[in-house]
Amino acid sequence: MSRHGTSPGFDTDVLVVGAGPTGLALGTALAREGRRVVVVDKEERTRDTSRAVVVHARTLEVLDWLGVAARLVDLGIRVRRFTVRDRDRVLMPIMFDRVPSAYPYALMVPQHVTEAVLTDRLAASGVEVLRPWELASVTQDDDGVLARCTAGRTIRASFVVGCDGMHSTVREEAGIALEGGKYAEEFVLADIKVSGGVPRSQAVLYLSPAGLLFVAPLPAGLHRVVGSASDAPGAIDRDFVQHLLDARGPRRDRARVERVDRSSRFHIHHRLAARYHQGRLVVAGDAAHVHSPAGGQGMNVGIVDAAALAAVLDAILDGAPLGLLDEYEAARRPVARQVIALTDRLTRLAVVDPRLRTTRNALIGAAAHVPIIPRRLARRLSGVVYRDTLATETTPVGGPVR
Ligand SMILES: Cc1cc2nc3c(=O)[nH]c(=O)nc-3n(C[C@H](O)[C@H](O)[C@H](O)COP(=O)(O)OP(=O)(O)OC[C@H]3O[C@@H](n4cnc5c(N)ncnc54)[C@H](O)[C@@H]3O)c2cc1C
Repeated sequence: MSRHGTSPGFDTDVLVVGAGPTGLALGTALAREGRRVVVVDKEERTRDTSRAVVVHARTLEVLDWLGVAARLVDLGIRVRRFTVRDRDRVLMPIMFDRVPSAYPYALMVPQHVTEAVLTDRLAASGVEVLRPWELASVTQDDDGVLARCTAGRTIRASFVVGCDGMHSTVREEAGIALEGGKYAEEFVLADIKVSGGVPRSQAVLYLSPAGLLFVAPLPAGLHRVVGSASDAPGAIDRDFVQHLLDARGPRRDRARVERVDRSSRFHIHHRLAARYHQGRLVVAGDAAHVHSPAGGQGMNVGIVDAAALAAVLDAILDGAPLGLLDEYEAARRPVARQVIALTDRLTRLAVVDPRLRTTRNALIGAAAHVPIIPRRLARRLSGVVYRDTLATETTPVGGPVR
């Protein structure tokens, strides 16, 4: 239901393009404020491809504000400890249980589950995602935006927000550049059933001489593995994942791969939108920033973007000046820049030249003895260090979601 401030003749206050985690969180946050919101997605149904698996403490605080954290926590695995290892040797423990938050852990839960929980919450607010509705083009004037979707559908909205991923149509229509590049390395990802060797209570980044391998527990007795691989076969099968674990994972207690449920190969980008809005066209989530999955940050930053943006849009729809969108950009773009820089350092460290790997590991082991280093890393990865980026004088989000 519309609260107030809606222009006559408008179909909606905000058109959210894309029903990934960012768009779903934004739709939910706006509906929570009583705003009229339409969410469209070009896909017929939500994707169940395995992508993000980590929901960090700060994101859970925001999801709590949206009313979904408790349900999500019930569906995931709480990981309180993350270790960097060279085979069996722990180089650096990173303790999430010391992060100052009501959620002192990283929650391991597949992205499609997070999306399903947010979709249910959105539906409970009376908003169903329109599928398959693909945004084709937009025209904006001083009062609003006319959005044209395929099959001749149009929507008139006060604002259009592109939560439509890295290849964002909204960003392109707004003429906003996405600056950055792509890493040369190829990575593989697999969700596997494995016995022995790898823990169920913690996530591990193996930085072994033969290469990197990230292993983390997932619900339903599965594990997520991600590794760099230039020699991966077309289909990532059990033998290949076993080979990665044997060459890079635990040595004392061998991990045995029983089956591979899902797998993919991917390249990593590091890109940042030059601006976060152009008039009444706004971008959030992967439409605004893309980075390495090192540290599991992408989806998390997008969800927090959504909460910050919802507060700003709500204030503008209440009569605040359009220029308030600059505050959204000023608050959230530097966070994305920092996350890109951090994940870039982690990625480069992980894929460093093989001749430097022994030295790298010795340095990480030494750094672990300086307590502030793992402590700072835990706070940064958890996102709690960015809390103040929502606490502008004009946005209420800094308050309720702390
Ligand atoms: C292999 C891999 C592993 C990852 N691991 C992690 C991790 O551990 N932790 C983490 O936080 N992140 C991780 N990420 C990143 C994470 O998946 C993304 O950051 C996240 O999906 C971004 O969410 P989003 O809603 O912004 O965009 P998306 O999830 O890309 O959603 C965009 C939506 O927009 C829709 N759309 C696109 N164009 C249009 C259009 N023109 N009209 C209508 N709809 C449109 C699409 O169908 C899609 O549903 C990983 C990514 C990959 C690829």
